[in-house]
Amino acid sequence: MTSKSDNAKQKMDTGGDCRVGFGFDSHRFSHDRKLHLCGLEIPDHPGLAGHSDADCALHAVIDALLGALALPDIGELFPSTDPKWKGVPSRLLVQTVLGLVLQRFPDFELVNLDLTLITESPRIAPHKEAMIASLSELLGVPRERISVKGKTNEGMGWIGKKEGMAALCALSARI
Ligand SMILES: [Zn+2]
Repeated sequence: MTSKSDNAKQKMDTGGDCRVGFGFDSHRFSHDRKLHLCGLEIPDHPGLAGHSDADCALHAVIDALLGALALPDIGELFPSTDPKWKGVPSRLLVQTVLGLVLQRFPDFELVNLDLTLITESPRIAPHKEAMIASLSELLGVPRERISVKGKTNEGMGWIGKKEGMAALCALSARI
């Protein structure tokens, strides 16, 4: 006789599972760097300091993806002490992570993605459609299943003082 927990285990072993992931990232602005968000270069704005191109939007997406699957996080996979990842476009990190995910979960499918960028500048609205298109291409998710929202921090704290910006990402996936 199979118990309820055996059934649950069998379901996990054979896939069909639904997962939710959440990711957060933040970086300090740096005047001698270019700004990269969602895999796009945003012109005429200070960039973000970091080991890679410091695309905090993609870093939040990566951690949400890895979190959904309970895999090691972005800092464990791409340590800032490893010269291999110095200055690399975060698009490449996303592609590397998707490769790992598909190796481990061949039926993996990203269902939807909800991203919030918190910054006093640049304004996100003018870049929103291009960001959604970039994420859609990079992650293989239809545009209508991707949301990108920009918010300010109402002048409060380190974000309000324009010291840096933050990104939050929630997503769901099937494995
Ligand atoms: Zn980061």
